[in-house]
Amino acid sequence: MSPQPVIVGAGPAGVRAAQTLVAHGLRPVLVDEAPRAGGQIYRRTPANFQRSARALYGFEAGRATKLHLAADGLLHAVDWLPDSLVWNAQGGRLDVLHGLSQTTRQLPYCQIIVATGATDRILPVPGWTLPGVYSLGGAQVALKFQGCAIGKRVVFMGTGPLLYLIAWQYARAGVDVAAVLDSASLADQVAALPALLTQPAVLAKGLYFVAWLRAHGVALHGGARPLRVLGQARVRAVIWHDGEQECELECDAVGMGHALRPETQLADLLGCRFAWAPQQRAHLPERDAAGRSSVTGVYLAGDGAAIMGADAAEWAGELAALTMMGDVGLAVDAARARLLEKKLKHLQRFRTGLERAFPFPQDWAAQAPDELVVCRCEHITAGDLRRTVRESGATEMNRLKALSRAGMGRCQGRMCGVAAAEILAQASGQALEQVGRWRAQAPIKPLPMHLLQSQDSP
Ligand SMILES: Cc1cc2nc3c(=O)[nH]c(=O)nc-3n(C[C@H](O)[C@H](O)[C@H](O)COP(=O)(O)OP(=O)(O)OC[C@H]3O[C@@H](n4cnc5c(N)ncnc54)[C@H](O)[C@@H]3O)c2cc1C
Repeated sequence: MSPQPVIVGAGPAGVRAAQTLVAHGLRPVLVDEAPRAGGQIYRRTPANFQRSARALYGFEAGRATKLHLAADGLLHAVDWLPDSLVWNAQGGRLDVLHGLSQTTRQLPYCQIIVATGATDRILPVPGWTLPGVYSLGGAQVALKFQGCAIGKRVVFMGTGPLLYLIAWQYARAGVDVAAVLDSASLADQVAALPALLTQPAVLAKGLYFVAWLRAHGVALHGGARPLRVLGQARVRAVIWHDGEQECELECDAVGMGHALRPETQLADLLGCRFAWAPQQRAHLPERDAAGRSSVTGVYLAGDGAAIMGADAAEWAGELAALTMMGDVGLAVDAARARLLEKKLKHLQRFRTGLERAFPFPQDWAAQAPDELVVCRCEHITAGDLRRTVRESGATEMNRLKALSRAGMGRCQGRMCGVAAAEILAQASGQALEQVGRWRAQAPIKPLPMHLLQSQDSP
């Protein structure tokens, strides 16, 4: 294979993919915008930090340590590019920004494994732009990476398994967790039990977090609808509805999120075909069971292709690497590939259970008030979006973007895209899948201006 195979993302998927290629005598380039390999769940602290794996990763300490050792063992066998953001892909080349030197360079590829992971799925409420409001993932990164909390008295709200995990991590670290406000109800969770029982150990961990939080006096509210965050210079309180009445809860910080959304921009720039994935409520890059995308030489693995969790990411990374090598005629263990496919398929039932246990709040868009800021970069409200739909007849996401500027700011729609699509579907009376998705644009993430200027110069 020439040039070297490239792997973007050194989380569980990317590390296992790299390990598999190296085991077959190849030397891939492994790129990650983070300074150290590990990805989100096994995110590592700066090298001089001293906290133990147990303190950082709890039940996952053993898995985290194994993945870190695997990543460290690869450093001599791969071309490792840390602090390196892939911000564009075109014509068989990736544009890579090296964060430390603030320089950009091109990396050729023929075979590439995209293992770019996920970010929080954000459904905003009025007041979410106040200082002190973080995404759930952001709250966890602060704790895991920097060893600091987002506030002294924190409310966690939204839904999904991370809600309880992060509340538990905060409470265990000594933070006063004022409450967990989950939009899912107990009935949702009971209905999901048969599917969740297909992974009893994972279910047991989830139940443990809930039991621990209850035992330590943390208020857990199901069927809760966050209404707004109050404050001026900083968060002061959260107003929420418990199904019967409005309640107010004092706090100085909020962590919010409704599960995760795959980071698909790079797959988009690489030309992958997307399709509607009803379970994940998103348009996602198509891939076959072995990890092949619709573009020859482009393989997809881990949460960047569909949210399946860390174990699945490791299996999918290994499988994508085996598939890539098999496709260019290298001898690989076909039985191992089949086993990995089977394991991934088996996990699907559990994934369906999680979606059932923590369902998307379908009425979110209908309840979103006009003054709600949806796109914080450009300060576009739900009312602005609805007016654009009314006045221009926009029915599609990219048209909405062009007419309203929503999604044109620093985050390039990574934070507001989910909410904007929900508002467009509601305002135009269409099904969510019909409004489409924002096409990815380079740069995927912000670049220093001087680099863009040098790209333009002849
Ligand atoms: C903030 C956050 C916290 C999470 N915490 C937990 C947790 O505590 N427990 C749990 O079970 N699950 C957690 N999850 C989910 C879990 O991280 C994933 O299921 C798992 O890590 C998926 O592995 P992955 O290899 O697919 O992606 P990731 O682990 O997300 O790794 C993707 C890697 O790709 C890199 N990357 C992405 N785009 C680019 C680019 N353009 N250029 C260069 N590098 C790039 C990222 O820096 C990252 O290191 C979390 C998810 C998020 C988003």
